[in-house]
Amino acid sequence: MAEWFRRSTNKITTINKKDTAEGIWIKCPKCDQVIYKEELRKKKYVCTVCSHHFRITSQQYFNLLLDNPDNYLEIGKNIQSTDPLNFNASKKYSDQIILAKKKTGYNDAIRTVVGEIGGYKTALGIMDFSFIGGSMGSVVGEKIYRLINHAIENNLPLLIITASGGARMQEGSYSLMQMAKTSAKLAQLSNTGGLFVTLLTDPTTGGTTASFAMLGDIILAEPNALIGFAGARVIKQTIGQDLPEGFQRAEFLLEKGFVDNIVHRFDLKQTMIDIFKFFNYHPTSNS
Ligand SMILES: [Zn+2]
Repeated sequence: MAEWFRRSTNKITTINKKDTAEGIWIKCPKCDQVIYKEELRKKKYVCTVCSHHFRITSQQYFNLLLDNPDNYLEIGKNIQSTDPLNFNASKKYSDQIILAKKKTGYNDAIRTVVGEIGGYKTALGIMDFSFIGGSMGSVVGEKIYRLINHAIENNLPLLIITASGGARMQEGSYSLMQMAKTSAKLAQLSNTGGLFVTLLTDPTTGGTTASFAMLGDIILAEPNALIGFAGARVIKQTIGQDLPEGFQRAEFLLEKGFVDNIVHRFDLKQTMIDIFKFFNYHPTSNS
């Protein structure tokens, strides 16, 4: 916001609206700067003023990472939830799925593909937070399982980019079982010497954090990403203490050793290439 336009007295207060303006402008939720959407796209959805990393879709990560974003093999594309509990609370789960599919164009909260990053063939899973809060149900678990299988069989490095509110409670214990399923499969990958890298983006919480997200051989995070298990308010109420500043943010977790490094989106692709090279994978092409 321009300095001359800023309110000079604090006597008058208004609610600081977080909603972004519709149309061609978008407001940064961190510094309130109004940014031209096209400019934001060119800057890989990083705020031009404060470097806030906007949440982006799986497709936008494909564009960012893959040598050719249109050239990939999608694994388990058509797997869909069967609503095993016939869940019907305030909203019918089956209706929620239909709505989420329409909104995102995807069948569930993760897309799993094989594509090339800097010439390195990679098994790549990317979650979509916009699909029912990136929640992990039976479909997300099964797709991750198949992706890991593909990585094992073809000796490919595995990268999963997380964005998730946790387990999908509409599928009850079927959702919780995915934590064990993905973790067990990752142990198999580890036993065969395969590499698993996670990139935790804003937010990564609940059952996702409690399973595959934190099992990476290398755990990367985007700047200022919220990463945790339970919400800060619940923890505060439980322990009856104020939480330290920056609690559950990527920088705090790096300091405490839960995260290996924080990677700016501009550096993500090169970082992945460096990691693959370091772990002795060989590029299949020279792109
Ligand atoms: Zn900003």
